[in-house]
Parts: sequence; C-alpha cells; structure tokens
Amino acid sequence: MNVIIFGPPGAGKGTQAHNIVTKFNLIQVSTGDLLRKEVQNQTDIGKLIEDTISKGDFATDEIVNELIKKVIFDPIKKNKLIFDGYPRSINQAKNLDLLLKDSNQKIDFIFFLNVKKDTIIKRIEKRKILEKRSDDNLNTIIKRYETYMETTKPVLDYYSKKTNFYEIDGGLKIPEISSKIEQILTV
Ligand code: AMP
Repeated sequence: MNVIIFGPPGAGKGTQAHNIVTKFNLIQVSTGDLLRKEVQNQTDIGKLIEDTISKGDFATDEIVNELIKKVIFDPIKKNKLIFDGYPRSINQAKNLDLLLKDSNQKIDFIFFLNVKKDTIIKRIEKRKILEKRSDDNLNTIIKRYETYMETTKPVLDYYSKKTNFYEIDGGLKIPEISSKIEQILTV
C-alpha cells in the first residue's frame, strides 16, 4: 500500500506519517527530510538549496523529482511508501503519477489534513523550540503558508476529485487524527 499525507506546513503530516509507519510497516518519505539531509551533508544539491529552504521557498521540481525517483525505484521500498510533504506542485504530482506507473505502483490512500492558518502559526512556533529548524521563524512560517496556498493548493484540487481522497480535520488532537486515519486504512 502507498499513501500520501497532504496539508499545509505544520498540519502534522510528519507526526501522522510516523504513526502509520509504526503501525502498518510502511516507509516514510519526507522530501523535507531528504532535502535537509543534503544540506547537512553539504552535497552539491545541499549547497544549492540551503538558502532557499531557510527562506521558506521551494526547492526546484527538478531537484525534488530526482531525489524522489531513487526512493520510488528502490525495490525494498516498493508498495510501502508514505509520502509526507510531496507532491507540493502540480508538476510534482504529475511526475509522481509517471514514476508510479513506470514502477508498477499506485497510490491507495490520499489524506488531506486541513488546518487553519492561526493554528499552524501556533504549532510551528512550538516546534521551533523543540526541533530548532532554521525555517521555523515567524516570517518564514508565513512565507511557507503563502507558498503552500499558491503552489500546493492546486494539487489539493487535483487530488480531491479522486475516490481514494480523505479530508481529515487537522485541528483535532494527534491521537484523534491517528485513529481516524487508522480506521480508513484498516477497512
Ligand atoms: P517540510 O519538512 O515538508 O516542512 O519541508 C521543509 C522545506 O523543504 C519546505 O519549506 C521547502 O523549502 C522544502 N521542501 C520540502 N518538500 C518539498 C517539495 N516537495 N518541493 C519543494 N520543496 C520542498
């Protein structure tokens, strides 16, 4: 089974993906984590995207698509993928469709965690203290939300028409969201 967790920054995608990984033996694929690893290791890609990420802008589709391709074609990960933070643009969504088709896979469930802007700001301010991410400051949070509305919202319109699309109130408590997702996955 392959799953997408979709939603604005701070919606709790990573937390929920982590829970599903544990309970359903899937592999979490976070493009944010993949990109941060490139920065940490100061690879060519890492040096290129360091500033972009800190400012809350997106890495280019080209870079992200290249990183994700390796994951999708990894035989150990086949049909065990849970995408967290990808796709974030229509171009990425279309690229994902192609890569899945070429690797004989499909998406079984798409979850959209819907959260209001003020809740997101409060949550990210809290995470800033816990995780010390360079992109978790107020200006960047607002920028990331605006980028989401501009570039990622069309992906939501693209997926919401599909029959395996589920919208969940991301303002609920973490265990409540987990339980809703688990119920759907175990049907
Ligand atoms: P995240 O950990 O998902 O909140 O992502 C952190 C940052 O990494 C984002 O604000 C973007 O700068 C970058 N990023 C993560 N995923 C993508 C993606 N799919 N496309 C472009 N940039 C991304």
